[in-house]
Amino acid sequence: MTMAIVVHGGAGTIPAEREEIVQAGCKEAAAIGWRILKDGGSALDAVEAAAQVLEDNPNYNAGTGSGLATDGSIQMDAGLMEGHTLRVGAVAAVELIKNPISLARLVLESPHVLLVAKGALQFALERGMSLCRYEDLLTERQYKNWCATQNAHLVNELRYSLCELATCPKRADKQYGIAEVVQEQLLAIYPAQEVQGEKHGTVGAVAVDTLGTLAAATSTGGIVDKHPGRVGDSPLVGCGFYADENAAISCTGHGEDFVRLLLAKRAADFVAYGATAHAAAESSIAMLSTRTSGEGGLIIVDRLGNVGFTWNTAHMPYAYMTQDMQEPITGL
Ligand code: ASP
Repeated sequence: MTMAIVVHGGAGTIPAEREEIVQAGCKEAAAIGWRILKDGGSALDAVEAAAQVLEDNPNYNAGTGSGLATDGSIQMDAGLMEGHTLRVGAVAAVELIKNPISLARLVLESPHVLLVAKGALQFALERGMSLCRYEDLLTERQYKNWCATQNAHLVNELRYSLCELATCPKRADKQYGIAEVVQEQLLAIYPAQEVQGEKHGTVGAVAVDTLGTLAAATSTGGIVDKHPGRVGDSPLVGCGFYADENAAISCTGHGEDFVRLLLAKRAADFVAYGATAHAAAESSIAMLSTRTSGEGGLIIVDRLGNVGFTWNTAHMPYAYMTQDMQEPITGL
């Protein structure tokens, strides 16, 4: 049987100075997953290990290096699935977990499919997994990212208040002592801010092992500026990840749109109806573009070891390794 593994490091725009770092991380993860496959390990073990390596790498928005929610908390989502058995495990909005993908794996081994927030933490403790500290997950890069979004919100709120004063029936300048000219100057000094930050870094892996079994894994800190408790596609089976007897898929991008379209499952269905891995990836992301305004990408492998990957954002770092190769190929 043909083995193959593909990993991604999140769809988005990668600044030039980070291009090499994020490709190197993907290459390392693919190599570690590949070693497991080569030693006769399962696709499930390989995708978990690859995702774990990327979670431990602070350059990605998953595990260590996850983005912050608006309240400053770090809430992570992860899910994985095995194709032939249809076993699924996922966790959502979990805090203080160093490797959410490994907690998802514990859920997969249990009678459950998805555990969230406090209940998921309780489950982690019951299964002997220790909690990490908030500082273990926080990186300077993501902290600065969060500060930038908070500042943008503050400026926009200030502008809103100033505009409210201008339309106040009791004349702003008389009532509050703010002359219109001062008000205009303040609005000019503080132009409206677009709330943005780095929008990439979710991680994922898909693999097929020597037995032809497929598996998929996805892990993320979520989208930038997310509301606490917000859950995207990454831990939702059929949305951010999926595996059956034909294909395994891991997605990245604006999660709400992947949920609307059940995109990972659709990609698997394209393969089931005869599409190549590459064509299935292309058709799925084309659907994302035409049916929603969503941005993102996905990776896919089929049971014969054919790989596919595509995205409609500027970049999506990836790496893959198949039987005829000496080392993983990377790109973005
Ligand atoms: N899909 C992830 C989410 O919506 C984010 C990403 O892939 O960048 O939470």
